[in-house]
Amino acid sequence: MYNPKSLKAEEFISDEEINETLEYAEKNKNNLSLVDEILKKATQRKGLNHREASLLLACDDKDKVKQMYDLAEQIKKDFYGNRIVMFAPLYLSNYCVNGCLYCPYHLKNKNIPRKKLTQEEIEKEVIALQDMGHKRLAIESGEDPVNNPIEYILESIKTIYSIKHKNGAIRRVNVNIAATTVENYKKLKEAGIGTYILFQETYDKKAYEYLHPTGPKHDYAYHTEAMDRAMEGGIDDVGIGVLFGLDKYKYEFAGLLMHAEHLEAVHGVGPHTISVPRVKPADDIDPNDFDNSLSDEMFYKITALIRISVPYTGMIISTRETPEVREKIIRLGVSQISGGSRTSVGGYAESERPHDTEQFDVSDNRTLDEVVNWLITAGYIPSFCTACYRQGRTGDRFMSLCKSGQIQNCCHPNALMTLKEYLIDYASDDTRKIGEALIEKEIDNITNESLRPKVRDELKKIETGTRDLYF
Ligand code: SAM
Repeated sequence: MYNPKSLKAEEFISDEEINETLEYAEKNKNNLSLVDEILKKATQRKGLNHREASLLLACDDKDKVKQMYDLAEQIKKDFYGNRIVMFAPLYLSNYCVNGCLYCPYHLKNKNIPRKKLTQEEIEKEVIALQDMGHKRLAIESGEDPVNNPIEYILESIKTIYSIKHKNGAIRRVNVNIAATTVENYKKLKEAGIGTYILFQETYDKKAYEYLHPTGPKHDYAYHTEAMDRAMEGGIDDVGIGVLFGLDKYKYEFAGLLMHAEHLEAVHGVGPHTISVPRVKPADDIDPNDFDNSLSDEMFYKITALIRISVPYTGMIISTRETPEVREKIIRLGVSQISGGSRTSVGGYAESERPHDTEQFDVSDNRTLDEVVNWLITAGYIPSFCTACYRQGRTGDRFMSLCKSGQIQNCCHPNALMTLKEYLIDYASDDTRKIGEALIEKEIDNITNESLRPKVRDELKKIETGTRDLYF
């Protein structure tokens, strides 16, 4: 029944295979020589399959767990250096016809005002985001074919890309909207989106149907097969994720990796990103209603094991997490974070953070400049780079550059150049000072020596007013 190449949800996310995997992991979790063998395989940096990774997740031998963390940190450094890509979510509309039990936008919630941004309001939001320094957005919307049809989403993307305020520009729009048709994915591709993101929420079909009792999202197969339709529609960078805290994390972890294996088996390219959101309090939502919450410690272990299992896949963490948790999981594997986020519809154009239409409580309330300052102080390079997809480095092209290690020749200089733009155009005095020192230090760390003078030239051009330079 289990078949990673099948296009049927229940065959590539086979419940039977997940249960057998969990049994296998439980049975072998104290078999330390097998754990060693898997860890040894992981050091080759070619990834692990869902069975191997699930066994490591089940193993709680202290020394072995430490080895997992150390290896994750090392792989993170080898593949992503000290760069952290920055983005912000932009909520377009909270109209929604679904009944998701964990989301305050569900149809029956009459406590919250419903709001959908007009194109003029989107312009205001985008100007506010550009004035913070953002270059990359993830647009978010509820599912409502009448209020938020695909035409509305497409028009909004066009508006976002068209706005050029001072030196600002949104150069990459990722899209997190409900599962849709191949035709609509084609339209999103034509509109020039970056990654199409859709969280599975839970891979367990029964739990999925319970948590999505009404609306189009109730259809487990349609939702689970969405990434195949997206790829058929020409979108080759897709982002998957689980809403941790809804169902059993070991089951979800195996399902997530099986989904990645399926995409690789069918389309020749795995997911571009994996997100690790955890369920948060919101208007009429209490995470304690779901009895599968995930401890911080287990959250760290899952992050580390995703890093080890799919070394080439970017990992995303949002402001659902506190600065302390973010600090820790950035080290273990996360490569992209949001900063200065507002999760309400129209939140950026307001001077005070509005709460009435928030999708969830934000746990990191710092401004983008504070987050950038914090990253630099901790030795990271905040990157506003959007070059890859604009240079056609997407899907399997991106993955093969990653696998050969060549991607570093682009990512590292691009991170420095986009940080330079940020420092000149948007940073506070202190952030500018420590950022300039970091850039100076990092130029010497560019591995390809012949690139160093070229990067210095480009940085000079940025100082004299040129923008949007990249390799
Ligand atoms: N409506 C689209 C969909 O169904 O996929 C767009 C996604 S929604 C705006 C973004 C994500 O927020 C959801 O996929 C869900 O995982 C997450 N989310 C919803 N309620 C949440 C909560 N209370 N805490 C944390 N994340 C939540």
